[in-house]
Amino acid sequence: MVTKSSDWSNLKYCVQHVDKDIPLEIIFSTIIDDVRNEGIRAPRTIIYCQTRRQCAILYTVFETNLGKLFYKDAVSNCKKRLVEMYHAGTPETVKRHISKNLSHEEGHIKVLIATIAFGMGIDCKNVNRILHFGPSKNIESYIQESGRAGRDGSNSECILLFNGLLSAHCSSDMKDLLHDENGCRRELLMKSFGFTPQAHMRKHMCCDNCTKKCNCGPKECKTRTGLPICNEKTEDEDLSQKVRPVSLDQRKQLKAKLKSLREDIVKENKEKLINTVSLPTTLLEFGSIQVLGVLCNCHKIFSISDIMHYVEVWRLSHAHGILKAVNDIFKDISDIPDLDSESDEIIGDMNWEEIHDDSTLHSMFDSEEENMSVDETQDSGDGSLNTSSFFLDLAINQ
Ligand SMILES: [Zn+2]
Ligand SMILES: [Zn+2]
Repeated sequence: MVTKSSDWSNLKYCVQHVDKDIPLEIIFSTIIDDVRNEGIRAPRTIIYCQTRRQCAILYTVFETNLGKLFYKDAVSNCKKRLVEMYHAGTPETVKRHISKNLSHEEGHIKVLIATIAFGMGIDCKNVNRILHFGPSKNIESYIQESGRAGRDGSNSECILLFNGLLSAHCSSDMKDLLHDENGCRRELLMKSFGFTPQAHMRKHMCCDNCTKKCNCGPKECKTRTGLPICNEKTEDEDLSQKVRPVSLDQRKQLKAKLKSLREDIVKENKEKLINTVSLPTTLLEFGSIQVLGVLCNCHKIFSISDIMHYVEVWRLSHAHGILKAVNDIFKDISDIPDLDSESDEIIGDMNWEEIHDDSTLHSMFDSEEENMSVDETQDSGDGSLNTSSFFLDLAINQ
């Protein structure tokens, strides 16, 4: 239960999309660099993961990238790690070591990679940054977890990283938070509990969306929010750079095509998996975020590369199916490539592939079919859509 009637005004909220094609060491480079450069003076950070496997993958990324700087005084000793991991399977002695260390302001643990098993009853000192690798299952959990930052009143940052794979399982109020590109994140979070944010707060101290609208003057007003993740996809030499007009009717037809494409893929996978109890990963690979990605960008999709750029696709065969669906509606793509035998392999960085294959992540996903209802009236006239309210409507209608 969240009972504290405060609005955590020293916490700044930021929601950031992470592309699954970006390696984890790049996504987390700021935090890795802080430990490398500042050692025991690095800001204290908790990184919440959704599963044990995600914790282990991230831990290895830090360990590999830091070498001996993974340890205090660069001495390889299990009691001197600057980066630790905490989940339900962590041995009790290690759990005690971590809790004790974090309850001291001067404790040397600077980065804790944890599942939600970490938290209850532990008083963390000097935590200035909370990262969520994937959203919490609902808003209440998110508020609780992010509320472990800034207990001493100092300004702290709460960064929520997400993509389609990491957010397939979360509640619709959480999805509202992820996809609202204009509204105040704090307002949305507080509203869920009937709290009202303090009005006197400077916008650039509030959240990423408010920062975009702040012009109060001082240098800190224009400092960056969230992690500086450079997206290599901005080199768009492979993109078609073309645009077509899209009518509301065409968009409706495309949506129907995509839904049936998704049903076909799910069916095909279910048949393949007839003897297993596991859920077809298709539900994680091809869900509402992919359908919306296509619908929002269909005015500029003319090739497989365009789809790879605008949509979170995991398999070439899916990209191929999407391209055919787009062509069925617009009939203006002449060169649809043939599918080769490699089309069914997962596309992605090795770590992302492991995250994708995590059976715990699959079991978190509610197999209930997602309702992909969309408010069809949101058309801006130039073929593009107003993405944020579009996503918001989708989330509300779910
Ligand atoms: Zn705000
Ligand atoms: Zn400002």
